[in-house]
Amino acid sequence: MPTSERALVREVGPRDGLQMAKSVMPTAAKRRWIAAMAACGLPEMEVASFVPPALLPQMADAAEITRAARADHPALHVVALAPNLRGAQNAAAAGAQTIILPVSASEAHSQANVRRSRAEQVAELARVAAWAATLGGAAPRIEAGISTAFGCSLQGIIPEREVITLAADLARAGADRVALADTLGYASPSQVRRLVRAVRGEIGAERCGNLHLHDTLGTALANVFAALEEGVRGFDAALGGLGGCPYAPGSVGNAATEDLVFLLESEGFATGIDLPALIAARAALATGLPDERLHGRLAAAGVPRTYRPAMTA
Ligand code: ZN
Repeated sequence: MPTSERALVREVGPRDGLQMAKSVMPTAAKRRWIAAMAACGLPEMEVASFVPPALLPQMADAAEITRAARADHPALHVVALAPNLRGAQNAAAAGAQTIILPVSASEAHSQANVRRSRAEQVAELARVAAWAATLGGAAPRIEAGISTAFGCSLQGIIPEREVITLAADLARAGADRVALADTLGYASPSQVRRLVRAVRGEIGAERCGNLHLHDTLGTALANVFAALEEGVRGFDAALGGLGGCPYAPGSVGNAATEDLVFLLESEGFATGIDLPALIAARAALATGLPDERLHGRLAAAGVPRTYRPAMTA
C-alpha cells in the first residue's frame, strides 16, 4: 500500500458557516450537527464566535456550544473566534483550546469588522497573548487570523508586503500561530503560492496556521493545490460550503469540507475523515437550517466508485 502524508482539516461551519445564515440555528440542532461531524473523524472544529449577541444572534449560544463541544467530544480540538480580549476570556472560560483573533489586512475591513484600526487590533492581539501567558499550562493557543489577506471588496488590492509585515508584527506580538484568510475568495493559485511562501519564510512554517479559503469564484480547490505544493498541510473548510463575512460585502461560502477532503485524500494526503459519513452529516445541517441552500460538488455527484482514501504508514 502506498503511504502518504497527513493533512489537517479544520471544520469552521458552526462559526464561519452560520454567520451569514438567514435564520438562527437552534442550540440543540447545532449540537446534533457538531456531533455528526465529530463522528466523521474531523480533528478540529471552530464551533463559535464570542461576539455580542446583538451583532450576531447566530452566536448567542457561543459559550454553551463551546462547553458542550468539549464535554461531548473529548477527542475534538475545539476552536472559537473572539474579536478582543474580553471575547477571548469568555471563550477560554467556556473551554476553547484555540482562540482565533481576526486581524484584517485591509484597513477598511478592520474598521467594519472590529471597529479598530489594523494597528489597534495588533495591539489587542498582544494583550490577548499576554493574558494567555499568565495561564501557564491551561492557556489556549492564540491564533491571529489575517482576514482579507488576498484582497478586499471594500479596499481592493492589499499589497503583499503589508500582509508579510503584518504577519511578522503578529508573531512578534505573541501569536502562537498566524494564518492567512482569503475572506472574499479573490485569490488565484499563483498569488497563494507567492504569499504563502513569503509568510512562511518570514515567520517560519511551524508558526503558520491553517489556510482559510472561500470559494466565491470557484478557485478554492485550485488554491488548496497551490498551497499543498508550497508545503501547507492545514486547511479550513465548511460543510456544505456555507459561510461568509457580514462585514465584507460580496463574500460567499467557504471551501466545502466534503470537496476538500476528496481532493486531499485523492492526492495522497490522509485526513482521518470518513468521507461518506461526512456527506451524510449534511442531513443534520439541513435539518437545523432548512431554509439554507447547501453547496458542494461531491454531495451532488456522490462519492465516485473510483475513490480511494490515502493510506498512512
Ligand atoms: Zn471565512
